[in-house]
Amino acid sequence: MSTPKKHISYQFGGPIGALGVTLGTPFVTYALYFLCNENGCPSQSFLDAPLQHLAAQWPGWDKVFSSKVFGYYCAWYFGIAAAQFILPGKTYEGVELPDKTRLKYKLNVLQTAITIFGYLGLMTYREGFSFGIWSWIWENLLYLQTAALTFSIILAFYTYISSFFTGEILAEHGDTGNPLYDWFIGRPLNPRIGSWDLKCFSELRPGMILWPILNFTFLVHQYQTVGRITDSMILVNVFQFWYVIDSFINEPAVLTTMDIATDGFGFMLTFGDLCWLPFTYSLQARYLAMYPVDLGLLGVGGVLLVQAIGYFIFRGANGQKNKFRTNPNDPACAHLKVMHTKSGSKLLITGWWGIARHINYLGDWIMAWAWCLPTGFGTPITYFYVAYFAVLLIHRDRRDEEKCVKKYGEDWEKYKKLVPYRIIPGIY
Ligand code: NDP
Repeated sequence: MSTPKKHISYQFGGPIGALGVTLGTPFVTYALYFLCNENGCPSQSFLDAPLQHLAAQWPGWDKVFSSKVFGYYCAWYFGIAAAQFILPGKTYEGVELPDKTRLKYKLNVLQTAITIFGYLGLMTYREGFSFGIWSWIWENLLYLQTAALTFSIILAFYTYISSFFTGEILAEHGDTGNPLYDWFIGRPLNPRIGSWDLKCFSELRPGMILWPILNFTFLVHQYQTVGRITDSMILVNVFQFWYVIDSFINEPAVLTTMDIATDGFGFMLTFGDLCWLPFTYSLQARYLAMYPVDLGLLGVGGVLLVQAIGYFIFRGANGQKNKFRTNPNDPACAHLKVMHTKSGSKLLITGWWGIARHINYLGDWIMAWAWCLPTGFGTPITYFYVAYFAVLLIHRDRRDEEKCVKKYGEDWEKYKKLVPYRIIPGIY
């Protein structure tokens, strides 16, 4: 008897695309490290002969991977996991799963972050910038990056292989039968060890907490080498620290994001959460540590304005939808018009979500500019985040649209007529 053929619906260009992203994203992470360093950003030799330059920069495996630092990274990951269990936290229910059940999540990332940042802050207050952790991170940055990459590869293998034995729910797009693709996109939907949810834990904790720590390491390095801290460095640190804290304060909102609700947990997310996010998002601060920029009053004012506009849209739109989805009768949503759909779920058609179908992405992207502008205009490399984030958001919008078409059917077409623009009103 022949087994029925699986319905295969590929994202990211299927197995070839998965291979490209799997090899390409770590390559970019290392290229950014080697492109932007004390020799230049980029150095003249890179501009003269890019590939030869990158090859010449390769310092050898013993300078890239250290089993000791990998051990420390494992202690970091599992130490934060222990904090999730030990520290107090509220338990929330996730979205309804395909089998009509809901998982429970103990959420306390803010308590974890306060404990870690509080300890680092206290030690820095007592010992000043000579508190050893800061120079240790600077000196071991490449080892740390490789440790995070190695851990994310192992974690993706663990979740992929274990999903064949645990009988857990599989992600809609993660069970195509192509091992490379499924390992990349994520075969299991919510891999757990006991009550410990690996995906939800990894999404907001080890990488997101590490990011501002890296930024602060770069601030300390700037102080130690230049003798002062520039206004640009303060802005990048404060903006990104606030972004991280904001997501921690709104931790329950993560449960309804695409990452948690529909995506599987494979290399795409393990690498994105643990390695890509902290090490590429902190590029601007790393650049400023080596190439200080003074913005002056006018420059600071301009950047603050860009950040304020971005944050206003980002928080306004995300907050409005969150309130509406958690309690459609919330008085803050009473003035908004809604569209009833056959799925039973209502869609907002005025307010932020009546301006563009992903106006929240626009706010996030405007903030991305405010995080890069402080680096000035000496190099395009520090604008990597703006360019990459535009690609991510455009791609994410299409993936979300696919989900919404499936959920809302012809009602989604009606919504699209009422709200014709995807991200930028009047343009896109
Ligand atoms: P969104 O917050 O954009 O939510 C999309 C979902 O909202 C849809 O699937 C649909 O779900 C619901 N929805 C769509 N239209 C409406 C409407 N008119 N009324 C009510 N509900 C609607 O999801 P994301 O997870 O993509 O983004 C969350 C935030 O995270 C964004 O601000 C994004 O910029 C940010 N982000 C940041 C990243 C980074 O690396 N810095 C990476 C990824 C995201 P349903 O109807 O089923 O409820």
